[in-house]
Amino acid sequence: MTQLSDENLHWQAKAREVAEDVVRPLAAKYDVAQEYPWEIKDAIAEAGLFGVWIPEAYGGSGKHEWNIRNLVAVVEQLSRACGGVGVIFAVNALGSLPLIVGGTEEQKQHYLPQVAAGEKLIAFCLSEKTAGSDAQALKTRAVETGGGWRIHGEKKWTTNGGATDLYTVFAVTDPEEKSAARISAFIVEKDDPGFSIGKVEDKMGIRCTPVVETRFDGVEVDESRLLGGQTGKGFRHAMATLDMARPGVAAQGMGLAQGALELANRYTSQRNQFGQPVNRFQMVQQMLADMAMKTEAARQLIYAAAGAADSGNLAAVNQLAALAKCFATDVAMEVTTDAVQLFGGYGFMKDYPIEKYMRDAKITQIYEGTNQVQRMVIARNLAKEAESLGFLDEVIPAEDQDVYEG
Ligand SMILES: Cc1cc2nc3c(=O)[nH]c(=O)nc-3n(C[C@H](O)[C@H](O)[C@H](O)COP(=O)(O)OP(=O)(O)OC[C@H]3O[C@@H](n4cnc5c(N)ncnc54)[C@H](O)[C@@H]3O)c2cc1C
Repeated sequence: MTQLSDENLHWQAKAREVAEDVVRPLAAKYDVAQEYPWEIKDAIAEAGLFGVWIPEAYGGSGKHEWNIRNLVAVVEQLSRACGGVGVIFAVNALGSLPLIVGGTEEQKQHYLPQVAAGEKLIAFCLSEKTAGSDAQALKTRAVETGGGWRIHGEKKWTTNGGATDLYTVFAVTDPEEKSAARISAFIVEKDDPGFSIGKVEDKMGIRCTPVVETRFDGVEVDESRLLGGQTGKGFRHAMATLDMARPGVAAQGMGLAQGALELANRYTSQRNQFGQPVNRFQMVQQMLADMAMKTEAARQLIYAAAGAADSGNLAAVNQLAALAKCFATDVAMEVTTDAVQLFGGYGFMKDYPIEKYMRDAKITQIYEGTNQVQRMVIARNLAKEAESLGFLDEVIPAEDQDVYEG
């Protein structure tokens, strides 16, 4: 029983073809080179995959207002073959979702068809050196110039930066305001004077994915670049974007877990010790069974979160997306680590494909909100839910809870 529609399955099959024919054979090359894999990006564009989360009305292939199940179906398949390629693809959803969530009709009509066709790549610039989990503490400043805005500041960890044509940038427009309404979002283009790429990071995993600092030295943009045409909405749009994008990160993790499980399953069926394939040993069987159980549980939770998004049940998405992101990416780390274990000493070596899965998995627990932050979101939603559970007081004996005041 699958929670995916025929449309989702169609894109999943296309992505699997690209993953097996193009991504897997090139994964090790780009991991070593630590370069953006343009030939893979071209194959993804040719297969029409950059439009799967974008509605048809804006040049995409999504049949609905929200198409997050299409996104996760594709990300899973690409990540099965290479975690880094899963990211270079999914970041375009992260960069363009603010437009879908909060862009004006003109902005959507102008930018989304170019992204959907794979003609323009788009990145997401929220984090800064001193504003990570506490993204609201960002300092990049946009000052009104009369007819436009001038942006000053620096962003940290812009994924796909340098390869990308478009950047969704979050900046402070009202420094006197204490709430999140101090922040607005802008669309910056790579050729805008004053925009440049800073430090290029050297990474543990997802090495084909460039991650860079982006600099905004008085970048001038006109009014048409203010997302949604209104100030003060940027942070709200960023948070709504993350809710919609987190099933995608979860699918990166789950795809990595699935890919590692398949490799370990095959390897242990071929590797002989004590005169028999090692998968005949119960301890190995138990590890494989646990890996399969966790991966499938992650998959179903991701599909549930993506399904809630697609049906427009936005109230449920915040919790389901956090549950899915946290669970699936923790599973990714556990399953890829166990897969290395099942390869024995060979698993530790670079000429075997499995250690890359473990390196690629780690980042999924960190970005788009660390898994500690996901647990905070989940606990916050549970605390709200507790208020509606008063009917249970009848069956929970209550001790006298008067506080001792000394
Ligand atoms: C490879 C990579 C790619 C990235 N891509 C992008 C991108 O494209 N765009 C973008 O905007 N950002 C991006 N990021 C940034 C990423 O989202 C942040 O790194 C992440 O949100 C964590 O922020 P931080 O690194 O500053 O860690 P910190 O916030 O400094 O956290 C340090 C530790 O403290 C914990 N912690 C922090 N606050 C709390 C709390 N309240 N309760 C409990 N624990 C807490 C964290 O979980 C973590 O373990 C990327 C990061 C990396 C490494």
